[in-house]
Order: sequence, then structure tokens, then C-alpha cells
Amino acid sequence: MSAIVIAGGGLAGAATATLLAQAGREVTLIERESAPAHKICGEFMSTEAQVCLRQLGLDCGALGGARITHVRLIRGKRSITAKLPFEGLGLTRKTLDETLLNHAAQAGVSLQRGHAIRRISFSGGIQVEIDRSPPLTPRTLFLATGKHDTRGAPRAGRASPLIGFKTYFRLNPAQHAALAGHVELYLFPGGYAGMQLVENGEANFCLLVEPALFAHSGGKFPALLEHLQTISPPLAARLAGAQTLLPTPLTIARVPYGFVHRPHAQDPANMFRLGDQAAVIASFTGDGMAIALHSAALAAGHFLRGETSQTYHRRLARDVSGQIRRATALHAALSAPLLGPALFAAARIFPQALAISAAFTRVPEYARL
Ligand SMILES: Cc1cc2nc3c(=O)[nH]c(=O)nc-3n(C[C@H](O)[C@H](O)[C@H](O)COP(=O)(O)OP(=O)(O)OC[C@H]3O[C@@H](n4cnc5c(N)ncnc54)[C@H](O)[C@@H]3O)c2cc1C
Repeated sequence: MSAIVIAGGGLAGAATATLLAQAGREVTLIERESAPAHKICGEFMSTEAQVCLRQLGLDCGALGGARITHVRLIRGKRSITAKLPFEGLGLTRKTLDETLLNHAAQAGVSLQRGHAIRRISFSGGIQVEIDRSPPLTPRTLFLATGKHDTRGAPRAGRASPLIGFKTYFRLNPAQHAALAGHVELYLFPGGYAGMQLVENGEANFCLLVEPALFAHSGGKFPALLEHLQTISPPLAARLAGAQTLLPTPLTIARVPYGFVHRPHAQDPANMFRLGDQAAVIASFTGDGMAIALHSAALAAGHFLRGETSQTYHRRLARDVSGQIRRATALHAALSAPLLGPALFAAARIFPQALAISAAFTRVPEYARL
């Protein structure tokens, strides 16, 4: 049994496992999905995320993603377009996460796929209870199970009421061409939607709404989508003649947006929180993947230098707190009934405000490894 266990094989878990294996450590990674799977995510990969992957030896540009150079903000019938201060990439998590897991396996990580962690306990050392498998008692645990809490290791964050959906469309050729190179954000009362191209000419459509808006549509996604198209003519135009590619959308709720783990004296020693288990940024920023990969590089570095998980958690909180706070404030401002439209009107006069907002919600330059 290896002394290091990684719980969860998303970006943060697989990246950390790869780095530790590349440094010659014996690592076991437990991932509940037994095969490549879709994940709820807008799938906008920022430059920082691409750089982190390159440092691991992965060229995500070779995976067939769609280049994204501009952002378009849409409210009602009006839109604002601005050049991004960096180049993004639209790439499905199904492709990206599987590529990274394979990369980890090639680096020597022992993968246990198709096994869910049921509970983690800490009395007399770390114990990891696993579905259909004997428990593990590693010396060090990297917790990378993503957006929701794992039993025995809750986070302090408050669950957001927003409900998330993700699906894919094949757009008609004219709409596909109009979307190419852009990430679009559709703002409406009670939520927002994002759309961008990913590989294979498909368009990712990701949506976050307040429960009242979903209830207004009878709790049915097709009715919600119809309603959004009546209040957003540009969205209706974009989806005219589009083919829906998933039989039902992926859904998510209770994500603790704005959460940053603050180390505490009572934290279990030898447990490193990674990715969304350590910090959760508002989805519209498209920087959650970069934070997950940054946490992976930081945690692996601290562990290999023999530093404590407390030191790592303090450094991660210092690196990402500012961008997460700014993203939370920006989301609140854009969603406010009076301030939201006023900010949109101001951004129409000064479109570069979009690029500045995008830059302000990134992992800061000084923190990059
Ligand atoms: C609606 C929405 C849109 C988003 N859009 C973007 C975007 O466009 N760009 C961006 O950069 N970020 C985006 N994000 C954020 C991004 O998805 C996350 O920040 C990122 O995936 C975090 O990576 P992670 O490795 O921590 O977790 P995950 O990627 O969620 O990985 C966790 C892994 O752990 C596994 N797991 C979970 N529980 C268990 C268990 N009990 N046992 C074993 N395995 C388990 C899961 O199967 C999964 O593989 C979005 C988030 C949401 C909610």
C-alpha cells in the first residue's frame, strides 16, 4: 500500500499525482468514474491552466480544442464584445481529464478507477473507506474530490442556491461561424449562461439559475431553455436550428462559491486540500481549472520539500483569495437588479472593462509557479 493517496482524479488530483510520481513517489489515486465521463463545466481553459498543463508535459493545444480570443457579454438585445487579455481554449473535460489521468498512469501512478470514497476518518491516523475495496491508511492524503463535501472532511463554505446545467449543441453553420473565437455570456434576471465552441465543432452551453427561475419553468430544462430564448433574442438566434447533443443536461447544485480553505490548528495533519476542495471561484470567470492546477503544483512542491499542509493552505489562500473575492463581488454586482444593467451600460461605453475584469479574476502573475 502506498503512503500517498489521492482522493479524486479530476484536474487537481491527476495533476498532483503526476507531479509526485514524476518525483519518484509511489502514489495511489482513487477515482469513482470507471470510464471517461462528461463533467459539469463551461470548459473555458484560461492561459494559466494551459501553462500549468504544459509544465506537466501535456500540450493541450494538440487535443483539438477551439481557440478563444474574444468575450461577448449579452443582456436583452444588446451585446458588447472585447478582446481577451489572453487566449483561451474550449476543450471538453471528458477529453482533458482522461488525457491527464492517462498521463498520470504513464508517470507511474497506480489508478483505482470505479471506486468511490465513502468516508475519511482521522482518529489514530488517516483512514479512507472505499466502495468495494479494503480501506486505505495512507500517511498523506490529497483531497481532490471536487465540488461537493466528502463524508468526514467537510468544508466551511456556504452552499450557493444556484442550480447549474450543462449540455452541448451542434449549431447551424452560420451561428457556428458567429460563435467561433468567442466565449459568450448571456445575462438575464435570475442567472446567466455561457456558450463557446469546444472540439469536434460542438458548442458547450452552461447555465446557472436561481431556483425560482427554474421553478417558474415547472422544474423542466426544455421549458427553461424556451423561456430564456423568449427573454434573450440573441440566444434564440444562436440556438435556431441547433441540435441538442446530450439526451439530458448534466446538473449541479449547492456549490460553495467564494469558499477558500483557511488552515486551522484542528485541521488533520498530512491532509492537503486541492482544487475545489480548497477554493471555489464563481463559474463565469472560467478560472476554476487554473486554480485547481495551481493548487496541484503548489501542494506537490510543498509536500516534496517536507513542508506542512498548513503552510501550503496558507500560501494557496494568499494566492487566490483576492481573485475569488473580486469574482464574487463582480457576480453580485452583475446580478443586482439596478446595478447589473447600469454596469452593462457603462461597459458598452468602455468595452475594455470586460478585458480588465477578466484579468482581475485570474490567478495573479506573482503567484504562478
Ligand atoms: C457550472 C460550472 C461551470 C464552470 N466553468 C468553468 C470554466 O469554464 N472554466 C474553468 O476553468 N472552470 C470552470 N468551472 C470550475 C471547474 O469546473 C472546477 O474548478 C474544477 O473542475 C476543479 O477541479 P477539481 O480537480 O478540484 O475537481 P473536479 O474536476 O470536480 O474533479 C473531482 C474528481 O473527483 C472525483 N470524485 C468525487 N467524489 C469522489 C469520491 N467520493 N470518490 C472518488 N472520486 C470522487 C470526481 O469523479 C472527479 O473526477 C465551472 C464550475 C461550474 C460548477
